Amino acid sequence: MDLLKGKGAVVTGAASGIGKAIATAFIEAGASVLLCDLNAKALDDASAELGDRAIGRITDVSDESQVEAALRAAHDAFGSLDIVVNCAGFGAIAPLTELTGEKWKAVQAVTLGGVFYGVKHGARLMIEQGRPGVIINISSVNARQPGEGQAAYCAAKAGVDMLTRCAALELGGRGIRVVGIAPGLVETPLTRKELENPAMRELFLGVIPMKRPVAAEEIGHAAVFLASDHARSINGDTIAVDGGSLTRGYPALLTGLKG
Ligand code: NAP
Repeated sequence: MDLLKGKGAVVTGAASGIGKAIATAFIEAGASVLLCDLNAKALDDASAELGDRAIGRITDVSDESQVEAALRAAHDAFGSLDIVVNCAGFGAIAPLTELTGEKWKAVQAVTLGGVFYGVKHGARLMIEQGRPGVIINISSVNARQPGEGQAAYCAAKAGVDMLTRCAALELGGRGIRVVGIAPGLVETPLTRKELENPAMRELFLGVIPMKRPVAAEEIGHAAVFLASDHARSINGDTIAVDGGSLTRGYPALLTGLKG
């Protein structure tokens, strides 16, 4: 089904994992996508793989001017900016008392700051072009679920959820929807190393009622739905796609592997 036929989209963190799966699903649904990422090699490979309706652009989402320029480039290339997906993000695993200020700042700058720039400049462009669109922020179950050694990540993702709500409140009157997706455990380059450790894998799968990770493609399908008119009354909410892990706790990443 061509749910997004003719739409112009931007996806950040699009060279890998969840961002790449969202970009792929958007293209399959008929959209054109500007893929933004810092990883030049992965970006080249992804844009070549996704074909004529994909354009790669090296973008550091922690730099406001780069995000603004990327969104404008998508608007100019596709004729309109209809969908923005703010996906680039990462965490830092360290006990709170050992977490450096530098690490804290790096996580906030990309995982929360990058989302802010995408929402701000995505909305400004949609207002300027006189055609509203949809902004999707990639959150995490960790916005709601504290994790040992994950203070910086959890705080950033909780910030993303509140930003989604504030933006929906301010922009809804202009027809712009702002929504979020909170993935649970998804096997991507970000999590692969942890999941290769059998004890860690068992800890993670132990909190998922469905006993399996979520496939990145499932996040792509959720994003297509949220970006489409089928979701026209969904605004300000962040939808968990987590196999039910929020019904339990989060794995004890620091103490769970001891003794
Ligand atoms: P991933 O495979 O590591 O992909 C993230 C991409 O973003 C990488 O290509 C990375 O480049 C890029 N990136 C890093 N910093 C950037 C920056 N400053 N500007 C632009 N791009 C940048 O990670 P993922 O698992 O797909 O995660 C994507 C999002 O989903 C993140 O926000 C993450 O927090 C969230 N999430 C993931 C999971 C999960 O289980 N995987 C669960 C919940 C939420 P490099 O390769 O150079 O680092």
